[in-house]
Amino acid sequence: MGKEFYIDDDECISCGSCAEICPGCFQYEEGMIAARVIHFDCDIKLIEEAMDTCPVGCIYWAKGE
Ligand code: SF4
Repeated sequence: MGKEFYIDDDECISCGSCAEICPGCFQYEEGMIAARVIHFDCDIKLIEEAMDTCPVGCIYWAKGE
């Protein structure tokens, strides 16, 4: 399994960009209050790009990783 990460639901503004960049690991559909993580084993470069692109920076690596 890939390195774990999570979305802070309280900070997420539901822009959907993480799911556009890395649809294998992130899911966002209209009406959802926050995007969610559906897999951990995507290309790490895409995950990092999603993290860097998130406008509020609310995708974090899990602690202890
Ligand atoms: S990019 Fe960030 S703010 Fe946008 S849906 Fe994903 S987690 Fe939420």
